[in-house]
Amino acid sequence: MRQVREIYRANSRHWVGDGFWVQPLFSHMGEDRGTDPFLMLDYAAPYNFAPNERRHPRGVGQHPHKGFETVTIAYHGEVAHRDSAGGGGVIKEGDVQWMTAGAGIIHEEFHSEAFSQSGGLFEMVQLWVNLPAKDKNVPAHYQHLAKENIPVVALADDAGHVRLIAGEYAGVAGAARTYTEMNVWDGVLKAGHEAVLAVPESHTLSLVVLRGRVRFNGKEEAAAGQLVGFEHSGGEVQLAAVGDEEVKFLLLSGVPIAEPVVGYGPFVMNSAEEIHQAINDFNSGRFGQIA
Ligand code: MN
Repeated sequence: MRQVREIYRANSRHWVGDGFWVQPLFSHMGEDRGTDPFLMLDYAAPYNFAPNERRHPRGVGQHPHKGFETVTIAYHGEVAHRDSAGGGGVIKEGDVQWMTAGAGIIHEEFHSEAFSQSGGLFEMVQLWVNLPAKDKNVPAHYQHLAKENIPVVALADDAGHVRLIAGEYAGVAGAARTYTEMNVWDGVLKAGHEAVLAVPESHTLSLVVLRGRVRFNGKEEAAAGQLVGFEHSGGEVQLAAVGDEEVKFLLLSGVPIAEPVVGYGPFVMNSAEEIHQAINDFNSGRFGQIA
């Protein structure tokens, strides 16, 4: 069995811009929680927004990224985005945006016009995925993974399902193309049910509990808003839903990139020299501009 190594709960939430009230669960700028190839995860836990009466939508205005990928998973609410590579659109409920910043991009992320007007429940994950050194300068682009194009695979014994955002489960391929091998599974475990999951031994494994309470391997329990880190070993993990609540979780596993990580704000490179270069490139307008 893959044993639980640690259960971690972020102790504070902060605003990203004025649209995302997030709980940081891990970050390459903080303590290493063994999540390589995943750099950072901010969880915007369920939050009710009133209709926005102002002229401007809530969110984050123009800002750059370079050297990695941002993955936005929309559980509730909608995010509108535009970028310097000419992209733009709305990430709707159930959709995922997998953006490869690569050589550099400038984008903005706001509540959509429709969501700004209606207000309501908002819940998102933003996950940062590292790129190996050889791919840090690929041209910026993004994959819009619409809800209907994300494969859903049932768990055994009618225990629930996993949505395959990336990777592979039971021979079914996930929706996203990735630069290194990883799994991003968005799972539901029904109340009173159990499931056994396994990922390759070469992968690190972490799991975020988004709803409910889960017991792992018949021992450790974790609740909503907690990050569960597992030993880097082979074997299965048994999950059991505790109590009468359905469990929602996000499973992250992947082959570690195992290269130096040097982060500075929205840039993640392999060395301080590359960070200086990224800042110069951005300041010289080489990331382009939003049309
Ligand atoms: Mn961004």
